[in-house]
Amino acid sequence: MDEMHVRQRARAFVAEVDMSDIRTDLTPYVIAVNAKVREEELGDGESGYTITKPNGKHIITVNSLETEERQRFTICHEIAHIVLDLESSHEEVPSWSYAKRHPNEIACDTFAAELLMPYQQWLSAVPKEEPSLDLIHQMADLFGTSFPAAASRFASLSDLPCAFVTMERGAVRYAARSTALRQAGAWIPARSVIPAGSVAHRIRSSGDSATETGEVSQDVWFDNWEKGLPLYEISRHYARTDTTTSLLWFDSDDLPEVEVNRFGARIDDDGGLAELTGQLPWPGRSKRR
Ligand SMILES: [Zn+2]
Repeated sequence: MDEMHVRQRARAFVAEVDMSDIRTDLTPYVIAVNAKVREEELGDGESGYTITKPNGKHIITVNSLETEERQRFTICHEIAHIVLDLESSHEEVPSWSYAKRHPNEIACDTFAAELLMPYQQWLSAVPKEEPSLDLIHQMADLFGTSFPAAASRFASLSDLPCAFVTMERGAVRYAARSTALRQAGAWIPARSVIPAGSVAHRIRSSGDSATETGEVSQDVWFDNWEKGLPLYEISRHYARTDTTTSLLWFDSDDLPEVEVNRFGARIDDDGGLAELTGQLPWPGRSKRR
């Protein structure tokens, strides 16, 4: 089940529900899946689970010791398990980590983000300006989500070339990219180490939990990229879990002039052969320098 399919399923689900008050009350979602939510003190790191009664009613249990925003996320994640009919695989791997998580769990997180921050409400609420710490906090508060969830949503729905990178124990685990960045062929390899010269690298090296904003060169983050063009980075490091996140973006005017094939891969300008696409280039459309 790929990410696009999960998002489409979530948007179809959301479209059937009265969402006017969804930012403060998730009840319409809960009712739509024939579920009921109860709170209970669960163990450390255990966010919640669902049991289904013989009559088909689902009981979603959330950990009352976790924050309100975390409980909201858990409820939507459990709803995803019900709607997508995906089995849970919640044992041992903490939910803040993308490392080695079961694909079902990642799919349910994607689904949950669509429910918590419905894209139409998000797009009408998000200020049309460059991101900042304040802006992400403001959106997180508005939608009752965590800072990383709001930052990730910002990146995927932004008009800017923008990415949100999740790192764990010094390695890149996951990067959400905006359409503009994907179309530019910008690529951040998973499982690579946090690049030296990035804000993320600097604050993680300090060993403390911290948030910093800075300007770095685009080629620090993007593989096989032109040098010297500026990029902005808001990075946050969580020392307890050794998790680091970075929101990266740059102005569209600072996009390098490159060609991208129809698979989104960059076509190198070194006179070498581009990847075979089975299509002949259309005369006059080539922007080769
Ligand atoms: Zn799950």
